[in-house]
Amino acid sequence: MATLFTHAVVGGALASLAPAGVPRGRAALAFAAAAVLPDLDVVGFHLGLPYGHALGHRGMSHSLLFAAAAGAALALALPAARRTRAAAARMACLGALACASHGLLDAATDGGRGVAFLLPFDAGRTFLPWRPLPVSPLEPAAFLGARGLRILAVEIALVWLPLALLLAGRRLAAGPRRSAAPRASAPPGSPAPPARCVPRGSPTSRRARTPDRRGSASPARAPAPAPAGAPPRAGRPRAARCSGCSG
Ligand SMILES: [Zn+2]
Repeated sequence: MATLFTHAVVGGALASLAPAGVPRGRAALAFAAAAVLPDLDVVGFHLGLPYGHALGHRGMSHSLLFAAAAGAALALALPAARRTRAAAARMACLGALACASHGLLDAATDGGRGVAFLLPFDAGRTFLPWRPLPVSPLEPAAFLGARGLRILAVEIALVWLPLALLLAGRRLAAGPRRSAAPRASAPPGSPAPPARCVPRGSPTSRRARTPDRRGSASPARAPAPAPAGAPPRAGRPRAARCSGCSG
C-alpha cells in the first residue's frame, strides 16, 4: 500500500470539486476518510484470512464496486450533500473517486499482490504498468525510521507536489476571488458608517432624486395649496417621516 498520509491527501484534494453549499473542510475530511477506508481490510490478517482471499488485503475493499458503494454512503451521510439531487450525485461520484484512488495508488507500488479492482466479478489482481511508488509496510513500527522517510519523500515528490501544482493552476485559471471595493475615505478596518436617516420628501430622499422624463431630478413634491376660504386642517401637523427606517 501507499502510506495513509498520501491516500488521505489525494482524497482530500477532491474537496476542491465539491458542489457549492458543501463546506470544503467537511468535504475534505469525508473524501480523505473514503480514500483511507479500503485499508481497513488489514484486520483480515488478524482474523486469519490469507492475502489472496476476496476479503483479504487489496481484495473486495479495493474494488471499484466497493468504491461506488462508499461514494453513495458518503453522499447520504452528509446533510449538506443532500440538499439537491445534483449535489448528492456529484458528492457520490467524488466520494467514489476518492475511494477508487486508493486502489490506483496501491497498484502503482512496487510490492504486494496487486489490486482486485473487479471483484466480485473477477478475482484477478493487477498493477499499473508504471509502479514508481515504494510499497509501505503494513506495520506502523516498520514505517518509523529511515525507510518510512524515504517512502514518504518519494510520495511527496511524485504525488503531493504534482497535486499541489494542479490545484494551484486550477485556482489561477479560475481568476481572483471577488472582494468588496475598499472605501476611499475610511481607513481599512474602520466600522461602516451608520445609515443616514433621510426624511421623506427632503431634497435628498429617493423620491426627490428620481429623474423625471426629461432626465433631470425633479424637486420634492410640494403640498397642494389649500383653496381660498377653506378651513384649516384639524389635528397636529404630521412630522416628517424617515424613508430610510421604519420609524
Ligand atoms: Zn490499500
